[in-house]
Amino acid sequence: MSRRSKIYEGKAKILYEGPEPGTIIQYFKDDATAFNAEKKGTINGKGVINNRISEHVFTRLAHIGIPTHFIRRLNMREQLVRQVEIIPIEVVVRNVAAGSISKRLGIEEGEPLPHSLIEYYYKDDSLGDPLVAEEHIACFNWASHEEMQDISSMAIRINDFLCGMFAAIDIRLVDFKLEFGRLFDGDYSRVILADEISPDGCRLWDVKSGEKLDKDRFRRDLGDEEEAYREVARRLGLLQGEDNGPGEVLDLSSHRSRMRGTPPSKK
Ligand code: 5GP
Repeated sequence: MSRRSKIYEGKAKILYEGPEPGTIIQYFKDDATAFNAEKKGTINGKGVINNRISEHVFTRLAHIGIPTHFIRRLNMREQLVRQVEIIPIEVVVRNVAAGSISKRLGIEEGEPLPHSLIEYYYKDDSLGDPLVAEEHIACFNWASHEEMQDISSMAIRINDFLCGMFAAIDIRLVDFKLEFGRLFDGDYSRVILADEISPDGCRLWDVKSGEKLDKDRFRRDLGDEEEAYREVARRLGLLQGEDNGPGEVLDLSSHRSRMRGTPPSKK
């Protein structure tokens, strides 16, 4: 393999220089962290699954006209994306109370919100990604007023689309986190969707059982996180067939069963 220069290593991904100017390779790791990296671990096969799920979601969002950094998936763990300047704001959209909003405001987890909420968090690990208001974003010039208008309208469209996409496979989209970046064309820049959308940054609950199919399994020591991530991919139709061709995601459960010579587990 040719030598590549690493641009940045984050908690769940590594960014390498891409083959052409303006491109980046996003490598998905199995590493998992929670509570501002106080808890660290590994979810076997997570990188492969998240690469595939994020490819699927970004491709479908592009079909409805959301501009994204995604170009194409390269292999099991890597995708080629456009290089952007990340806006230092985590955009969280919530449909149901859970996680930090439940803790902060004392709202019971699982309580549907009267309408979807958009929250902004300033991306700074040393500060623990604090919740901020649009006034802070404007005051400290983290994003312009026009950029925030684009971000909020895209976040609402993405939420509407994803709620429907997940509802169709019996999954409730409780909340999720988005990141956006600036794509430059000379002096001009526009905001596009960046990072990833996967069970690492979403709360996904099974509609019937309420079972958590996301990173809360790791955060809360619920176990079976690999299986939960695979279940999301399976329901999205990304793990169909026993014989995954080259470049396709391996169905780990079938793979293990084949190696053991036992029938695959039914889920
Ligand atoms: P909360 O604010 O309740 O902790 O998180 C709200 C939603 O945003 C959850 O779906 C959570 O997974 C996602 N989220 C918030 N911050 C981060 C982050 O730093 N990394 C990831 N992967 N997801 C995050």
